[in-house]
Amino acid sequence: MFFLFGLTTRENLRFTRSATCRYCGMHAPQQVIERKTKLSVFFIPLLTLKKTRLQVCTNCGGTSRISGSEERALAR
Ligand SMILES: [Zn+2]
Repeated sequence: MFFLFGLTTRENLRFTRSATCRYCGMHAPQQVIERKTKLSVFFIPLLTLKKTRLQVCTNCGGTSRISGSEERALAR
């Protein structure tokens, strides 16, 4: 038997909100991106191995990992 395994990483833009950036201190649109790493077999994604949320500042490009509760706080 031969199996073809792989890892695929997908990024989804969840939403954009204006907030104060923790890097540049500017009130600028912040993108919240969900990044999922999936295990795929024969190019079919099966399992989500890792799920991270990123906050990206559109002003300075500063990227930081945020938790689910921080995402919900931003979504309001
Ligand atoms: Zn910034």
